[in-house]
Amino acid sequence: MLKNRRLKLERFFTANRLDAILFSSLPNICYLCGFSGSEGVLLLTRDRAWFLCDSRYTAQAGAEVGDAVIRQFTVKWDAVAELLGELKPGRVGFEAAHTTVADFKVLSDKLGQVELVALNGELDQIRSCKDQGEIERLQAVAACASASLLTVLPRLVPGVSEREIACELEFEMLRLGADGRAFDFIVASGERGAMPHGRASDKLIRSGELVTIDFGAVKDGYHSDETVTVALGRPDERSREIYRVVKEAHDRAIDRVRPGIACRDLDAVARECIRQHGYGEYFGHGLGHGVGLEIHEKPVVSPRSETVVEEGMVFTIEPGIYIPGFGGVRIEDTVVVTADGCRLLTQVPKELTMV
Ligand code: ZN
Ligand code: ZN
Repeated sequence: MLKNRRLKLERFFTANRLDAILFSSLPNICYLCGFSGSEGVLLLTRDRAWFLCDSRYTAQAGAEVGDAVIRQFTVKWDAVAELLGELKPGRVGFEAAHTTVADFKVLSDKLGQVELVALNGELDQIRSCKDQGEIERLQAVAACASASLLTVLPRLVPGVSEREIACELEFEMLRLGADGRAFDFIVASGERGAMPHGRASDKLIRSGELVTIDFGAVKDGYHSDETVTVALGRPDERSREIYRVVKEAHDRAIDRVRPGIACRDLDAVARECIRQHGYGEYFGHGLGHGVGLEIHEKPVVSPRSETVVEEGMVFTIEPGIYIPGFGGVRIEDTVVVTADGCRLLTQVPKELTMV
């Protein structure tokens, strides 16, 4: 499996005439060699692999890293320089998007004879299409998070705080087997719903308010991402209208997901729907993003995206309307692209729920 994943790098080796690629992004390292710890470097040539880590991770790397030579270091870039000194490659690609200016300076000082070639975020695209094992993990973690939300929803009563709901949700996820939460949950009620990223606060939730809950779990390195907007009691007509529009945009976009459609066209389906109903100015963010070893990864589903949808991609569809001084609605599902459409990984029904 890791061999198949590394084959995806072939075109980078060829296009940039590289002899080796140095990886410093932990999600990419995990994807390519299996290491799940928090510090290490991976060096790949076309047919060999070296994983370098410090003494905290030597045993873990021995268990997780399948077919790379494991080397323990005391000073990371010294060890990288030593290895490259042995291999004597001419051109070495590195992840410019995941290398600090300080690290680059150390590296280029130590590697006078090696030509360092900056590879930008495009390397992250190798993780866009998920294999069967990844899809199973993404499905399991999404199911866990959805079940947690359904358990917690009945506790959403007048007078409970946003923070309490966030805490209960995290606790249920852990109880159902998650390793943790995927990000700081958003629980935004009433006027706070106008903030697309309104973190759970001490605000008490009142009857008649809409509550946007954006939540996700992480398990075995894989993340889930889902947003529900529910009503506490019966919301006013304007809130119900906004909900109908967002739901329609969400449904229309999901209907159009299939291999071959451009991500920017998917975004346009939802954006146009919201615009036609007169709320265009209140939907500022992109329609969605990939989900996998990171909560936000490739592909980007936005008006500026250059990506075409392929089978196996996993990404969110999350239109929203946010009206300052009034409130907002977002509805988010995570889908996996199949041969002729898509399948939902997230499982909470998205009809307007009144609790
Ligand atoms: Zn989300
Ligand atoms: Zn999202």
